[in-house]
Parts: sequence; structure tokens; C-alpha cells
Amino acid sequence: MSLEGKVALVTGSGRGIGREIALLLAGRGVDLVITDIDEASAVKAAEEVKEKGRKAIAVKSDVSNAADVEALFKKAVDEFGRLDILVNNAGITRDTLLVRMKEEDWDAVLAVNLKGAFLCTRAAAKIMMRQRSGRIINISSVIGLMGNVGQANYSASKAGLLGLTKSAARELAPRGVTVNAVTPGFIQTDMTANLPEEVKTSLMNAVPMKKLGEPRDVAELIAFLAGNGADYITGQVIGVDGGMVMS
Ligand code: NAP
Repeated sequence: MSLEGKVALVTGSGRGIGREIALLLAGRGVDLVITDIDEASAVKAAEEVKEKGRKAIAVKSDVSNAADVEALFKKAVDEFGRLDILVNNAGITRDTLLVRMKEEDWDAVLAVNLKGAFLCTRAAAKIMMRQRSGRIINISSVIGLMGNVGQANYSASKAGLLGLTKSAARELAPRGVTVNAVTPGFIQTDMTANLPEEVKTSLMNAVPMKKLGEPRDVAELIAFLAGNGADYITGQVIGVDGGMVMS
């Protein structure tokens, strides 16, 4: 299941789960395009990849901006000449109850979490179809499967990602490109650290394993889906959630 010499682009990889995915892939021999809306964190994460002996470039990019995404994929190909793995990880929350939700809260979350993944998937697909190989992995969420109070925008964006995953998987399968989604549960990052205590308690009560997941738990699944062991897996939605959702 060697990933040695492959090239991956992970969106939102300056910190959190994205950074962990990038570092784990680097440890398995992958060169990285680190991209984040926050340039300083992208540069720092790229340095950490280089410390692991792999090549890395840091690119500041807003995934919801079509011009940024076009420039991002051009830089990736100019630097590495190919792209084997895309992880659509960048995501944001703007939580509030539905009746209080402003149009801007809806638009901002859908723009980053769903349109961002569409723009990056479209750009990567053009490169990967030419190569006749590639792996696209979308980071959805258990909230896209279950819904959640105060997260109508986030839940809709993460459910939308599942439709994008399945349609892209069907279109790209004949060209050797697989597209899968993972649905993390309650993972310990800045995104969950900022949740109100009562929300954290109710989420924890819904986890049969009674513990938070670590970014590493998600990264291990991504590395599996990126490797040869997942050659015959496409269009799937795979949970990493301590048993929160069982289908
Ligand atoms: P995080 O710690 O908030 O990290 C998200 C990263 O995305 C940050 O580096 C952020 O940059 C970057 N980002 C935000 N908007 C962007 C944009 N427009 N363009 C490019 N990059 C952007 O979040 P996380 O917990 O690691 O979550 C990563 C992914 O996993 C998200 O898609 C999230 O929805 C999903 N997820 C997380 C959990 C969880 O429990 N943590 C559970 C299920 C799914 P800044 O540093 O500038 O904000």
C-alpha cells in the first residue's frame, strides 16, 4: 500500500485535521501542497512536512474563490507535474438556530464547505483524468447524516458533499479516479473546542465509545483511502466517529 512519491493537495491544512492528514501522508512518503486561507499556518505546516524529508509548497488560497482555486492547482502542477490525491478538508461553521440564521451565515458556510469542494474537485478531476489515476476524498461529517440543532447550514453543506461525492465517483470511475467521503464524529480540534459546553456534553453522550476522536484517527482513514488497499472502493461514505452513526 505504498504512497511513496505520490503528490497530495490538502485544503485547510494549516492546522487541525488537515494538518494532521498532511503530516501523516508525508510520513508515508507523499509530497504535499499545503493550502490554507491563513498563509502563516500554511507556511509552518509546509516546514513541518519538509522536516519529515518530503517536498512541500505552501499556497495561500480561499477555496470558495474560483480564481484562487485555479491559481492553486496551476501552482501544484507547475511544482510537481502531477496530482495523485486531493483531500477536500477546508471547512467552517457559523452556528445558530435556524430562525436566527442570517443569509450571510448560510452563504458563507455553503461557499467554503460545498462550493469550495466543487471547485477543487473540478480542478483536480481535469488533471487526474489525464493521468488516468487519482484519489479524491471529501471530509464530510456525521452532522451531514444526522443533522444538529444550530447547524442547519453546516449540516446542509456536509450532506451536499455526499451528493457531490457520489456523482463525481460515477463520472470519474471509468478514468481510474476514485471519490469517497469520510464522516468524522466529534474530533478534538479548535473547531470543537469552541463549542458551548452543553453542546459538547450532548454530543459526547451520543458517542458509544465515550471519548473524543483525535485528528490522527481521521488521517489514518484518509491514508488508507489514498493507498492501493482502496483501489476498488469508490462513491462510499465511511464513518470515523466512535460508533455515533451506525447504518
Ligand atoms: P479547523 O481546526 O477549524 O481547521 C480548518 C482549516 O480550514 C483552518 O486551517 C482554516 O483556516 C481553513 N479554512 C477555513 N476557511 C477556509 C477557506 N475558505 N479556504 C481555505 N482554507 C480555509 O477545523 P477541523 O476541526 O480541523 O476540521 C477540518 C474539516 O473536518 C472540516 O471540513 C470540518 O467540517 C470537518 N469535521 C470536523 C469535525 C471535528 O469534530 N473537528 C467533525 C466532523 C467534520 P483558518 O486557520 O484561517 O481558520
